Amino acid sequence: MVMTVEQHRKLLSYISQRANRISPSGIRKFFDLLASTEGVISLGVGEPDFTTPWHISEAAIYSLGKGYTMYTSNSGMPELREELARYLEDSYGVKYDPNGELLITVGVSEGLDLVMRAILDPGDEVIMPDPCYVAYESCVLLTGGKPVKVPTNQENNFEVSAADIEAQITDRTKAILIGYPANPTGAVTSRDKLSQIAELALRYQLPVISDEIYAKLVYGVEHTCFASLPKVKESTILLGGFSKAYAMTGWRIGYAAGPGEIIAAMTRIHQYTMMCVPTMSQMAAMEALRSGEASALEMVEDYNRRRRVIVKGLNDIGLTCFEPRGAFYAFPSIKCTGMSSEEFAEKLLIEEKVAVVPGVAFGKSGEGYVRCCYATSLTDIGEALSRMKRFVDKHRVT
Ligand code: PLP
Repeated sequence: MVMTVEQHRKLLSYISQRANRISPSGIRKFFDLLASTEGVISLGVGEPDFTTPWHISEAAIYSLGKGYTMYTSNSGMPELREELARYLEDSYGVKYDPNGELLITVGVSEGLDLVMRAILDPGDEVIMPDPCYVAYESCVLLTGGKPVKVPTNQENNFEVSAADIEAQITDRTKAILIGYPANPTGAVTSRDKLSQIAELALRYQLPVISDEIYAKLVYGVEHTCFASLPKVKESTILLGGFSKAYAMTGWRIGYAAGPGEIIAAMTRIHQYTMMCVPTMSQMAAMEALRSGEASALEMVEDYNRRRRVIVKGLNDIGLTCFEPRGAFYAFPSIKCTGMSSEEFAEKLLIEEKVAVVPGVAFGKSGEGYVRCCYATSLTDIGEALSRMKRFVDKHRVT
């Protein structure tokens, strides 16, 4: 049935102002273009190329055979919350009460949405680094809140400073959102810098939302859990997940850990929307926490080999790239081509069939860079680098 212009307009008029405030993800838009091109090497999508370690999948399959197919507690299975509390204490020395301070969520994605809905009223501001993960801004906008961006760049290793955050604090500031190791830059920030942010947050009595989904993916540095810093546990909402470290993106499971009052508000929203995370995913996550360490470390070692190859390769081509110490992204500068990041990504895809994500998709400060995800084979990385070299040699202006 062909729709008339009036019918189309009518349908658009049904869309709420909040939904209209967010635009389609810059990443997705780009991947529609990619899907229609053959022979592409993708350094695009930010997900592991490994499948979930078999013992983790098997735990889920076994649970289905055992009849674990019902709803669970809204907060997540008690055994999983207990296992998670043990894991967080062993890993970071932070103690959480499994009954009240932990919530099992549908990935960090749901955790982000819940925390914003739980704490923000229209007009409230959340300070976050720029560039940053695409969902941060949208989750704030969907509540009627206002994202306030703090620019970072290659010169400061894409680390947000306490002083820059402080300059953005107003009487509408409701929270500070950070995410290290970072998407899209691969930046990891030091314990020292995090302590300065902690001190600032305490001084202004602001909660900090810390997205630590890439906590396990660090290379030659140690991950600092923000909540483990002195005195801030009670005002930190820690978001963590299984997607990246255990190659479990499709299982859709993560968690939020924080003060009981905020977790209770998040749980109230979660119980009317998700009810609970799929039971088999909870079973798989339990196995990941109990015995997934070795498989996770193996994958990290593999990512590290690829990281070294891609960072050296990009720098050799002239796409200068600071050393990313976390996640699985390199974020090279493309300024030597004089192109915008969207133009670069589009031309590279058309001329050389290599997919990267324009840095501007992650915020204004991402302009002049592209995100290259190296969670792909060394063979593909090598081929992508030689295609990119040909492309840069052809288009270099400086
Ligand atoms: N946070 C960051 C920084 C991410 O990069 C991603 C996914 O790419 C997410 C959260 C979403 O993770 P999940 O799969 O747990 O929803």
